[in-house]
Amino acid sequence: MYDYQEDIHELVRQLRKHQKIAVISHVRPDGDAIGSQVGICLWLEAEGIDYMAHNDDALPEDISWIRNGVNIRPYTQEELETCDALLFVDGNSPKRFGNLSGYFENCSKPCYIIDHHPEPADGYTYMVSVPEAASTAELIYWLYDETAPERITKEVATALYTGIMTDTGSFRFASVGSHIHRIIADLIDRGELQIAPIHQKVYDNLQLKQLRLISRVLSQIEVYEKYKMSSMVVTLDDLEKTGCEYNDTEGLISFPLSLNDVDVAIIFIEREGKIKMSLRSKTDFDVNLLARLFNGGGHQKAAGAWYDGSIEEAVKNVMETAISMAAKASA
Ligand code: 5GP
Ligand code: MN
Repeated sequence: MYDYQEDIHELVRQLRKHQKIAVISHVRPDGDAIGSQVGICLWLEAEGIDYMAHNDDALPEDISWIRNGVNIRPYTQEELETCDALLFVDGNSPKRFGNLSGYFENCSKPCYIIDHHPEPADGYTYMVSVPEAASTAELIYWLYDETAPERITKEVATALYTGIMTDTGSFRFASVGSHIHRIIADLIDRGELQIAPIHQKVYDNLQLKQLRLISRVLSQIEVYEKYKMSSMVVTLDDLEKTGCEYNDTEGLISFPLSLNDVDVAIIFIEREGKIKMSLRSKTDFDVNLLARLFNGGGHQKAAGAWYDGSIEEAVKNVMETAISMAAKASA
């Protein structure tokens, strides 16, 4: 287990100096981003500290229910200016926080970050950065545990559980130690957490159009047998023909990754002139390194990036780079 006490106490000391904090989660929010954001906002509220919960993107349906009274939406720069500090959750650089990233980067207000992505950007007033943590939500749990465990209500427990569950692939990643299961036990006992409805809302939530999209793109999966890699492509045409939107592509990466002879899977999703890539690894092949070569990032086993160019070019360029990385590693 990692050390966290000192960092958490220092962050709390700093946060308590402020009257109103902008709490900002990353674009294309996932369960950990929103679970952590809701968790910390409810903590601030109980502290008597006002907040604005900002996210640039609409929340996908499978996680929007987590917000539980916390109004998460895009705020303008002028609105955020009414806060006296900024707190970033679940992202390691201003680039991850959307259209206002230029403002965030040059903001003169105190900026804090609580996150578990490796190699965080510099320049924060104070940073809790724990790459060994499986999720940001577990760091927010420690913050409650250290300061006010009695404030772990059902709403808090639900938000934190969802964050931990989604970022650990439902408790199956290597980052899941016994401490994670102890946290969950505490959330169940203290927060009267109900697990079954959460799994249902997150995982049994497909719409028919999404299933049609899946069946359409599954037939195009490529496997690079020699390198145990797989690529999957979703074009604007695939989205249009099935009535889907970009947000409906969440989770598609699990299909190529579930193949028994595939260790590394990459999905390419077309979005007006840019290509969103999601990269996943089941072995020690480092997709974070690969994503960084294309100005993205993430973790060793899960990373993302945006490619400027056509989807054909993205697939060719990225897969060639991935294969040469794999070839070098095995040489
Ligand atoms: P996803 O593929 O689900 O969008 O993201 C997987 C992981 O990579 C997440 O941990 C996310 O924070 C990170 N990630 C995704 N897209 C980007 C990106 O464009 N830049 C960076 N630095 N990290 C990303
Ligand atoms: Mn996370």
